[in-house]
Amino acid sequence: MKKVVLITGASRGIGAATAKVLASQGYSVAINYRANRDEAEKVLAQVLQFGVEATIVQADVSDEAQVVEMFQQVQRQLGSVTHLVNNAGILKKQTSLLGLDAQRINQILSTNVTSYFICTREAVRQMSSGSAIVNVSSVAAKTGSPNEYVDYAASKGAIDTMTIGLAKELANQNIRVNCVRPGLIETDIHALGGEPKRYERVGKTLPMERGGKPEEVANAIAWLLSDEASYSSGTFIDVAGGL
Ligand code: NAP
Repeated sequence: MKKVVLITGASRGIGAATAKVLASQGYSVAINYRANRDEAEKVLAQVLQFGVEATIVQADVSDEAQVVEMFQQVQRQLGSVTHLVNNAGILKKQTSLLGLDAQRINQILSTNVTSYFICTREAVRQMSSGSAIVNVSSVAAKTGSPNEYVDYAASKGAIDTMTIGLAKELANQNIRVNCVRPGLIETDIHALGGEPKRYERVGKTLPMERGGKPEEVANAIAWLLSDEASYSSGTFIDVAGGL
């Protein structure tokens, strides 16, 4: 089977690292981004060096119509999607409960949760037996991120539950659904919380006394997508340095 993977939010961070690892394994790669076309094009150039087919595809994954169009575009350019990495995610400025409002919470949920459902629905329309999906959640689903972003942590809890449900629902089609929960990883996401250096501050406090690199998460994603994980579905891998 020709392997065609779509990775949401692949212009930077964990998504970009995943695009490179999967290209090195021979996948055709669709690199989704929302705003940062220059970064997406850099990732595309790196992916093409592995001699695989690849494309970049702009879409805001919180917008259903844009997601539907994105999957049609990828099918036209690379063929039917066989693998999906639901990765695009956001958080907002660190705050306690009293700083939360409905607009913020709804934006977190539409980007981090609704998008994973809609992308998975569109992927499954193209997928066949042997296909696989990995959802990028967070250890925040278990720790709750008090006084930082409980709304973000709750959105990741929803992803964990979604993984369990859809793994069971799609099992008899032999479409596997698994989940990777990163801990603290060195990416730009911490700037959204208002603390770009959070990686350095919190890293020292962790069991391994450091945060992780995007590539360390990408390798776990790649294994769960691979045929080596053929009997794993509804499975979680924490990539969190012992946290
Ligand atoms: P990042 O460096 O901030 O990159 C986020 C990516 O998502 C970018 O490519 C961005 O694209 C894209 N994106 C954001 N909103 C989007 C939207 N509405 N539609 C399409 N693309 C969108 O983040 P990261 O740290 O790699 O995070 C990736 C995933 O890992 C997220 O789900 C995050 O929650 C999870 N995670 C991260 C950590 C960590 O410590 N870094 C820990 C646990 C879990 P543009 O730049 O083009 O807009």
